[in-house]
Order: sequence, then structure tokens, then C-alpha cells
Amino acid sequence: MSKTPAKPETTSVSTDAAGAILTIDLGAIRENYRRLKAQLGNVSCAGVVKADGYGLGASQVAGALVAEGCDVFFVAHLAEGVALREALGAKPAIYVLNGMPPGSEPEAVAAELSAVINSVDQLAAWREAASRSGRKLPAAVQVDSGMSRLGMSPQEVEQVATDPHAFDGVDVTFVMSHLACADEPEHPANERQRLEFERLRKLLPPAPASLANSSGIFLGQRFHFDLARPGAALYGINPTPARPNPMLPTARLEAKVIQTRNVASGAGVGYGHTFHATGPLAAATISLGYADGWHRRAASAAWFEGVRLPFLGRVSMDSIILDISALPSGRLGEGDLVELLGPSQSVDDAAGHAGTIGYEILTSFGHRFHRRYIGG
Ligand SMILES: *Cc1c(COP(=O)(O)O)cnc(C)c1O
Repeated sequence: MSKTPAKPETTSVSTDAAGAILTIDLGAIRENYRRLKAQLGNVSCAGVVKADGYGLGASQVAGALVAEGCDVFFVAHLAEGVALREALGAKPAIYVLNGMPPGSEPEAVAAELSAVINSVDQLAAWREAASRSGRKLPAAVQVDSGMSRLGMSPQEVEQVATDPHAFDGVDVTFVMSHLACADEPEHPANERQRLEFERLRKLLPPAPASLANSSGIFLGQRFHFDLARPGAALYGINPTPARPNPMLPTARLEAKVIQTRNVASGAGVGYGHTFHATGPLAAATISLGYADGWHRRAASAAWFEGVRLPFLGRVSMDSIILDISALPSGRLGEGDLVELLGPSQSVDDAAGHAGTIGYEILTSFGHRFHRRYIGG
């Protein structure tokens, strides 16, 4: 098994050396958790911190949520679970959504991780691990209610329902499923999945149920069951895309200007000369590019003191060229910071310009940023 990944703070570059600064507001993440709890009333609320806390630092985010009383976490991979256990200590429950890779069960048991069981084979392997360790092992059973991605198929659920020993040694802490279209409240798949989930969970050992991700929380009470599993909304991504964002932004990204220049009329700018200056303009090159997760095809802009600075030409691996003609001459210079994400441009805005979703913007962040945590 691979080593525990280094934690962001140990890899974070100093402010002076870094090309860009990512500021993560743990106070805003905590406030978002409280807002989701308010939506949920008495229903419990887990924290989904897979993919290193959607790029913002799983151990820091989970630590902030623990301070809000969150005691159930979901990661995607076993290695993420092992690292999170080390960061959080013994108490919180940590579930591994993708299931335990065959043969890795002892490692998962040693780290006190809870399985998400996605198949009859995974159930057998977890039963086996329980028998070897001489105690009951906790697991959520995931059923496929209609997304066709992960979880026991209805046939598998019906099969285990007829086997009185199927769950020997397994403490079924949750039955869960995942919604495919929760961000589209009118989509008929939501209600279909809810009904199928209701049907399937009745065939399994009685246990609390969990269906809603971030957007699912906003589909109304009948989607809440006993435990919600938000990820995106905690990080400030809008869980209700058709309506104003009820969450606070949590990430600010600023990149450093490394050079400024005057570009003559007619000059080509950037790789492939996809842009030519139609008149003289002022340009600034910033120290952030697609290797940092800013998509190469993103037609986007940076901001300085509220002034929009459009990208010129293509995004390079390590740099982007901005049109700074809208600023007074000499106002922006080497070492100044421009905003890529923040009050002027939300994660969802940036995603729109890149033809993707906020999730991909956050989880694409590279490892060269100086990371600063505030509000913790
Ligand atoms: C990623 C994931 C979540 C969280 O989804 P968001 O849309 O980020 O809230 C919840 N449940 C499962 C199974 C997931 O894979």
C-alpha cells in the first residue's frame, strides 16, 4: 500500500516563494456546515472530505467540522481514510466510499475504518475480516437505486436478503445510496431513486438510512432520512444551481504578477498566437497556469481591486497573460497579487468560464500554491 500522502502544510510553499496563494477559510466551512444542519433539523450531517477535502485539505477541513460536532466522515479511497484517521484520532467514523480493494481489509481494520459495501463480494470479504479479527466490523451498505455507478444491484440486495448469515459479523450502521440528478430538483429520477431506495432498504438489516448529498439536502425533508452526506456545499459550491448560492465562499486564490510589458498593436500573444493585439495594450504575466489546475481552455479573467483583467491568448503551463489596460499605467507591478477566486469571481463563475463544474476547479488545484488557513 502507498504511504500516507504528505499533508498540505508540509508541502506548502512559503508566501514569498510561491507563485500563488490559496487562502482557505475554515470559519466559512464551519458556517456552511451549520447552515446545512439548519436545513436538516434533527437529521445528522456527515462531512465528505474525499479528494483531499475537495482540494482544500482533508485533515484541516475535517478538523474544523469536528469542532462543529461532526463525527461521521466519508472519503473515497482507503489511503485517504488511513491518512484521515491519523489526523483525527480514534473517535470519528470514517467511511471509504469506493469500497475496500480486495485484500486490503486488514489494513482498513487496523485503521478502524468503516467499509462502504458495494457488492456481495465486498460483503463476503468484510464478513471474513470480521471473523478473522474476532469482532463485529462497522459498514454502510450502499445500494444502487438508479445511478448505475456503485452499490449492490437490486438483484444482489434480493439475493443477500434470503441469506440469514449474509451479515454475520457485520454491524450495518447505515444503508445508503447516491442521487444522480439532485442538482435538478424537477428531474423525475430523484423521486424514482427515492422510492427504489425505500424498497431496497427494507430488504436489508434495519439500519439508519442516508441518501442526500449537498443538493439532495435541498430537495426537501423526504430526501433527508437519517444522515446527509454533503461535500460540495461545505466548500461553497452552490448546491442549488438554479437559485442564489445559500453557502459562503471558502477559497480565495491569488496569483503573483511576475512581469509586465507593453504589447504593440498587431503583436501575437501567447502560444499559437491565438490572440493578436488590435491596438497597443498593457499586459501582465502571472505565475499560475494549467499545471496549477487552471484549465487551459478557460476563457477567463483575473481581478485587481475590483477591475476585471481578461486573459490574453492561451493559458500556459506555469503562467497566464492578462490584459491590464483597464488599470492606470504602472498601477500593477511585479509581486502584486491578482484575484482568480474570491469576491469578484466565485468557484462556480470560474467553472462556468472553463466549461466545467466547481467540483473540478477545486479538485484540480496543484501542489505549488502557498496554502493559508484562516478562521480555524
Ligand atoms: C461525493 C459524494 C457525496 C458528496 O456529494 P456532493 O455533491 O459533493 O455533496 C455524497 N455521497 C457520495 C456517495 C459521493 O460519492
